[in-house]
Amino acid sequence: MHLSRFPRVHLAHLPTPLEPMPRLSKELGTDIWIKRDDCTGLSTGGNKTRKLEFLMAEAEAQGADMVMTQGATQSNHARQTAAAAARMGINCHILLEDRTGYNNANYNHNGNVLLDHLHGAATQKYPGGHDMVAEMEKVAEQKRAEGHKVYVIPGGGSNPTGALGYVNCAFELLGQFNDRGLKVDRIVHATGSSGTQAGLVAGLCAMNANIPLLGIGTRAPRPKQEQMVFDLAQKTADMLGCPGVVSREAVVANTDYVGDGYGLPTKAGIEAIQMFAELDGILLDPVYSAKGAAGLIDLARKGAFKDERVVFLHTGGAVGLFGYDFAFDHDDRWVTG
Ligand SMILES: *Cc1c(COP(=O)(O)O)cnc(C)c1O
Repeated sequence: MHLSRFPRVHLAHLPTPLEPMPRLSKELGTDIWIKRDDCTGLSTGGNKTRKLEFLMAEAEAQGADMVMTQGATQSNHARQTAAAAARMGINCHILLEDRTGYNNANYNHNGNVLLDHLHGAATQKYPGGHDMVAEMEKVAEQKRAEGHKVYVIPGGGSNPTGALGYVNCAFELLGQFNDRGLKVDRIVHATGSSGTQAGLVAGLCAMNANIPLLGIGTRAPRPKQEQMVFDLAQKTADMLGCPGVVSREAVVANTDYVGDGYGLPTKAGIEAIQMFAELDGILLDPVYSAKGAAGLIDLARKGAFKDERVVFLHTGGAVGLFGYDFAFDHDDRWVTG
């Protein structure tokens, strides 16, 4: 539980703010607060910054001159990795998988893709359905043969080293709750490659916080999502030096808000984006945080959080909006004078 014994580069603006959401709370009749991990810094921020603090430190300790990772075309993780690599003077090579089949220009060139390139990363495109882990190993071997010292970061930065970033966030949250005398009944966030939830679960269990955590799925069905989180949370607890602290019951995912699949916007997600933007001036993204917020909103409307104070962990990603402009119809916002 002594995080400072792990190598870390300080890339994030921490602590991120914890703020009330007065208008959304009023609208839903539930006391909702927001943890602003969309404000972690590093190329507009997001949850990957916390993971990269530990991952990039490991890359540096191993003498890497190149980091490699993979994700979907509009991957926030790829963009933040590219920015971290730029900051540390390390080459960045990214494999992008087409998981949506969108051939529209903004999806393929704007948003996160534009920023990947601005940060100097090389991107390589793959059609959907490839074994991206195997592809990444292949390319890493090529680069090694060319003389590079390559550090491979898994998709989403989700391994025990990356998850330490969210153990750190669990500490930070508890500190903020304690300092403000804020009794929090639940934490809700979007879950994908599982490192965020695994780190939070490991940290919360290690502290015996007794605050339920709910991950809203964005890709996998519930049994697979929960198993991924549980496996990684256990490995993370082992790494922390507190093996066995994570109980299976502490891992809860609700995957009812995925819709047609990963990276495909949903009607409820678009509504969540509009509500957060119009009620409290907060920007969500269509791939992750919108689906997380859609779950939060729907469950609140159904009375699942009755009399609770709920913290929504905003994992970032708003840059993706510029790759998904086609998902919004704002013609009625144009008025004539
Ligand atoms: C990656 C990401 C997530 C999911 O986090 P995981 O650790 O992969 O589960 C959620 N929101 C945003 C904006 C992301 O980029």
